[in-house]
Amino acid sequence: MNRNQFLKTGLAAGIGAVLPLQKSFSPVIGRAKNIIFFSYDGFSWEDFSAAQHYSRRNFGKPLHIEKLFKTGSAGSMQSHSLTSMVTDSSAATTTWATGRKIVNGALSAYPDGEELTTILELAKAKGMATGVVSTTRVTHATPAGWIAKHVNRRAEEDIAEQFAQFKADVMIGGGIEAFDRNIRSDGKDLYKPFVDHGYDVVKDVSKLSSISSDKVLATLHESHIPFEIDRRFRGEEAPTLREMAMKGVEILDGSERGFVLHIESGRIDHANHRNDAGAAMWEILAADETLGALMEYVDKTPGTLLIMSSDHGTGGGSVYGVGERYRASSDIHDLISNRTASFPWIMVQLGENPSEKQVQEILYDATKTELNTRQVIMLQKAIAGEIDMPDQAAYPRQPIATLAYVLKGGTNDDPSHLNVNYGTTQHTAGAVPAALYGNGVETKPFGLIDNTDLFYWMTDALGIDFQNKEMSSEKALEFYSG
Ligand SMILES: [Zn+2]
Repeated sequence: MNRNQFLKTGLAAGIGAVLPLQKSFSPVIGRAKNIIFFSYDGFSWEDFSAAQHYSRRNFGKPLHIEKLFKTGSAGSMQSHSLTSMVTDSSAATTTWATGRKIVNGALSAYPDGEELTTILELAKAKGMATGVVSTTRVTHATPAGWIAKHVNRRAEEDIAEQFAQFKADVMIGGGIEAFDRNIRSDGKDLYKPFVDHGYDVVKDVSKLSSISSDKVLATLHESHIPFEIDRRFRGEEAPTLREMAMKGVEILDGSERGFVLHIESGRIDHANHRNDAGAAMWEILAADETLGALMEYVDKTPGTLLIMSSDHGTGGGSVYGVGERYRASSDIHDLISNRTASFPWIMVQLGENPSEKQVQEILYDATKTELNTRQVIMLQKAIAGEIDMPDQAAYPRQPIATLAYVLKGGTNDDPSHLNVNYGTTQHTAGAVPAALYGNGVETKPFGLIDNTDLFYWMTDALGIDFQNKEMSSEKALEFYSG
C-alpha cells in the first residue's frame, strides 16, 4: 500500500467508522416563519466556562448563553469535515448551509467544482428575505459559505461578485477591500451593482444606525471589524456586533414571507488563533450581549427560531487549577481584567524596533505584566524575525506567538500570571456547543449531534424537503492524490 492509498483508506475508515453521518431525529416541532442562525467562530466549551465564571464574578450576572442552554434546547455538536477530523471555518459553515460535509478550504463546493445549494438559496426561492452579518469581512469564510460557491475560500474578490449576483437583502460586516475598485486587483466597482438595485451602500460606521432601506450592503471596515477589546479600551472606531446584528434584524423584521439571517461572531476565532485570552473574552462577551438582544427579539416575535452554534474550537485554551485545593484558580482568572488591548494592537504600538523600555511600558499599559530583560529580548528578537522559541513548530504565528509566550510567563502554579493555557494556534477537534431557542416553534432536547443536522433542522422548520448530493471522503481524497 503506497502512502496515498494508506491516507485514503485510513482517513475514510477512521471517520466513516466512528462517526455515522445519518440525520439525527429533528428536535424542531412545527414550523418557523423566521430563522436566525447565530454562529460563534472558534468557541469551545472551555471558552464558555471561562466567560461564564468571569461574567458572574466581575459583573455579578450570568451570561445570556446560560439562559439559552437552560431554557432552550441544547447539546454538543461534532464538527469534523469530509477529509479531516479538524474542520476549518469554510467547511463547517458549508455543512450548516448545505447539510453536506466538504473538504476544508472550500465554500459550498466539492473539490471537482460541483456546487451545493445553500439554505439562503432555498429560502429565497420560497420568497423569504435573507441576510448575513459578521464581525469579519462579509466575504470571509463563515458568512460567504451561505451565499457563494468556490473551491478556494480565499478568493474573496470572486466571492464579492457572487454576492452581487445573489443579492441577499442584508449584508453587514467588514470587507470594503473586496468591493472597492481602488483596492480590487481587477479595478471593478462591486458596489455599483448594489447601488443600481436600490441598496443602501454604507461604509461609514456612523451611518449604520440611520439605514432605512430594506436592502443594505454595509462594509464598515477595510478588512475585519476591529476587536471589541480595542473598541472598548483603545477607542478603535467600530460598530458592536449587537448594533450590526440588530440592524439586520430590524431591516428583515416583518418580511412578508419571513427571513433567514446568519449572524457571526467571527473573531473569537482570530483571538484564539493568537492565544490572546483577553481579546477572546471580550469577543465572547460582545457575542453574549448580542445573544441577549436576539433572545429578546425571539421572545416577542412568534414563529422565530434561533439557532446558536460554534463551528469548532480554536487554540485549545483552557483555564487550569492553581494553588492549594485549586483555591486560587478563580481569583487568578480575574487577571484577565488587566488585558485592555488585543495582541495585534500591541504589536502595532511596538513597531519594528522597540527599545527595552518601550516594550516594558507598552506591555504594562496593555496587560499590567512586568516583563524581565530576558523576556523583552525574546520579544525583540521575534519582532526582528530572529525567532527564539523552545518549540517553534507548535507556534508558527510570529511574532505574536512569542508575545503570547512571554505573557504566559512562569509555571502552571505561578499565582501571578493568568491561568489560561493554550495548546496550539490551530483549530481543535472537540465537540462544541449548539442550542435552539424559539417562540412558537417548539423544540425538544437533543444530545450529541453532527453539524450536518442543523441544516436539516432548518429545512424541517421551513417545510423544505431538500438534500444536496453527497460526496464520499474517498472520492474527495482522489482530488488530492496527485
Ligand atoms: Zn471557524
